[in-house]
Amino acid sequence: MTQDLDAFVAALPMAILVIGQGDRILALNASAQALLPVASVGSHYVTALRQPAVLEVVDLALRRGQAGQTGFTGPGDSQWRATVRRAGQNVVLTCEDMTAQEDAERVRRDFIANVSHEMRTPLTALIGFIETLQGPARDDPVARDRFLTIMAAEAGRMGRLVEDLLSLRQVEDQERVRPTGPVNLGALVDSVVRTLGPMAERAGVRVLVERPAVLPDIPGDAGQLQQVLTNLLDNAIKYGAAGGQVTVGLAGPADEPDLQGPGLRLWVADQGDGIATHHLGRLTERFYRIDTHRSRAVGGTGLGLAIVKHIVTRHRGRLRIDSAPGRGSRFTVILPAS
Ligand code: ADP
Repeated sequence: MTQDLDAFVAALPMAILVIGQGDRILALNASAQALLPVASVGSHYVTALRQPAVLEVVDLALRRGQAGQTGFTGPGDSQWRATVRRAGQNVVLTCEDMTAQEDAERVRRDFIANVSHEMRTPLTALIGFIETLQGPARDDPVARDRFLTIMAAEAGRMGRLVEDLLSLRQVEDQERVRPTGPVNLGALVDSVVRTLGPMAERAGVRVLVERPAVLPDIPGDAGQLQQVLTNLLDNAIKYGAAGGQVTVGLAGPADEPDLQGPGLRLWVADQGDGIATHHLGRLTERFYRIDTHRSRAVGGTGLGLAIVKHIVTRHRGRLRIDSAPGRGSRFTVILPAS
C-alpha cells in the first residue's frame, strides 16, 4: 500500500505531501521535497511546514476534517497556493506554483495603472485650460490662442496614446501568426524617410540612407514593418537631434547566426546623447523611458519601442540596441530573408 501510494504521489505533476497517522508524513514527491527540503517520510509535519498559514489549514484538516486553501511564499520569492483535503484517515497537501500567474496579474495591474496615469496628465491640463477659458481668460484673445495651442497639443498626445495602445493590442493579437506577404524593404525605407522628412528638417537633422541597389523581398507585414522604421526614425530624430545626422541602413542577405539562416538588416543610427547600459535591457518595456519629462516634451507615449519589439518578434526577427552615452545609438532589426 505504501509502495502504491509512493508511486501514485510520484506520478503527480504538482508538489504533494500526505500526512498520516500521528501527524507524520506518509509520502511526498520530488516537487514537494524541492519546495520543503527538510520534509522527510516519518517526520512530524510541523517540522517540515514552516509557514504558519499552511500549518493552520493542515491543522484544521487533521483535527476537524476541514478542507482549506492558503497562499505562501517559497524559495526565491516564488508564490504558491497550498490546498489541503482530507482523504480517509489521511490529509493531502498539494502546492501549485502561482508565480507566473501572479507576475502576469501584476503586469496587467501595472499596465492599467500606467495607462490611467498617462491619460490623466493631458486630461487634467485640458480641464484646467477649459476652466480658464470659461473664466478669467474669456475675453483675452491672446491668452485664448495660446491656451488653444497647448490644448491641441495635449489632445494630440491623448490621441497618439490611444493610437499606440490600439497598435499594441493589434500586434499582440497577431503575434502568433507569422506574416507572409512580400515586402520590399528598400521601397519601405524610401517611403518612411520621405514621410518623416519635414519632421527631420524642423529638428535640424539630416537623414542619410545607406542601402544596396537591389535587395530581395522578404516575407513580412508591410504596414507593421513601416511602423517599426517609423518609430525608430522618429526616436532618432527626437532623441538624437543633437548629432545633426541620422543614418537609415539596409544590408543583406547574409547568414545570421541568431536566426539560424539568412537575414536582412535594417538599422537606424544617430549621433545623439546615447543611452547608459543599464537602461538598454528595459527600453522595450511598455512606458519605460529614460527621462519621462523629455519624452513627454517631444510628444512620446513610451510605447514606441514596445510596439517595435512585438512586431519584430512576430516576424521571428531580432532587435539589437547598441548605444553608449556620448556615442549615439544604433537600433538594428534583423529579419529572416525567407
Ligand atoms: P517614447 O514615446 O518615450 O519615445 P519609446 O518606447 O519609443 O517611447 O522609447 C522609450 C525610451 O527610450 C524613450 O523615452 C527614450 O528615453 C529612449 N530612446 C529611444 N530611442 C532613443 C534614441 N535614439 N536615443 C536615445 N534614447 C532613446
